[in-house]
Amino acid sequence: MRVLITGGAGFIGSHLAEAYLNRGEEVFIIDDLSTGSLDNLLHLQQDPETAQRLFITIDTVLNAEPLSELIGTCDVVVHLAAAVGVQYVLDNPLSSILTNVQGTEKVLELCAKFRKKVLIASTSEVYGKHAHAPLIESDDCVYGPSTKSRWSYAASKLIDEFTALAYHMSRNLPVCIVRFFNTVGPRQTGRYGMVIPRFVEQALHDRPITVYGTGQQTRTFTHVRDSCEAVMRLLDTPEAVGEVVNVGGIEEISILELAHRIRTKVGSRAEPELVPYDQVFPPYFEDMQRRVPSTAKLKVLTGFSPIIDLDQVLDDVIAHHRNASQPTERQLLAGLHAHDIDGIPFAGQALMAPVRSRSSLMSGELPLP
Ligand code: UDP
Repeated sequence: MRVLITGGAGFIGSHLAEAYLNRGEEVFIIDDLSTGSLDNLLHLQQDPETAQRLFITIDTVLNAEPLSELIGTCDVVVHLAAAVGVQYVLDNPLSSILTNVQGTEKVLELCAKFRKKVLIASTSEVYGKHAHAPLIESDDCVYGPSTKSRWSYAASKLIDEFTALAYHMSRNLPVCIVRFFNTVGPRQTGRYGMVIPRFVEQALHDRPITVYGTGQQTRTFTHVRDSCEAVMRLLDTPEAVGEVVNVGGIEEISILELAHRIRTKVGSRAEPELVPYDQVFPPYFEDMQRRVPSTAKLKVLTGFSPIIDLDQVLDDVIAHHRNASQPTERQLLAGLHAHDIDGIPFAGQALMAPVRSRSSLMSGELPLP
């Protein structure tokens, strides 16, 4: 099977590419590297077993020509390309909306044209400011006013969901929508606000662990391996077509408790420090107080629900960050050193791994030298 992953150089996308390659599939990726990185795919390009089945195109999903060629080539599409991260969306309000809404529309239109099954990535953000738990797929979505741009991300992903369902109903497109709940794991960067990589980096460097607000807000984190397993199973399940499905983890934890748990695991001298929201975010910012998924629908549809607990998630992330403080092969070649992976975008274009050009997509040529 040929799988196209939009946003495949991102955190979830690179793990999904790996999972599909390990299953023996051919994987095609389109990514504009706005928040993703070819470093996430380097190990797959270096392994001859996976490299020959991995095809990478660096381009945006807003560019119809390469996207059309790729969707026409592949059997199934996983659309992950989107603006991600609270900080990124606050910093880039317009491009975030356009990428999410126009990019998804383009993917859906071409999937309808070529009659290809597609999975659209959505987010637990679409539920908005609910405090009850667990959240089920049929719950209302509750947002603040449009003057608070915080809600534009949720609203843009909700438009993606409406558009996907409309394509399903009006054009009979086989589509499945996944709402990811705080997916975390190795290779996630804290650069765009995500809490676990940020706390781990702070703890490893004995810096204050920046807990926003009171720290009493809660989240339920999902190991990226579980998220990928859920995606693959949903795509293999005919009954999942036309459905919206939560994909989320098992343990609800407050952010303050999370800070303490990471500090203990790392063996750090760092202390949690409460930081008022207005010191980090614009005045209109509003945080979600609680977010717990029901995964009953996922279980009924696929027989699977996430199994990896938070301790394992944290152990994996901490191990990754400890290793990441060693210079990578590519950095050594370029005479650079790895530093704080949260702070310094180190992989410039000149350091990019070889990728297949778009013109070599169909011919299966080996990566360019
Ligand atoms: N958070 C925090 N300190 C940080 C980064 C995030 O206290 O350095 C909090 C954030 O305010 C939120 C939670 O951690 O309550 C999860 O944040 P993240 O950005 O990872 O995900 P999301 O807000 O989308 O759930």
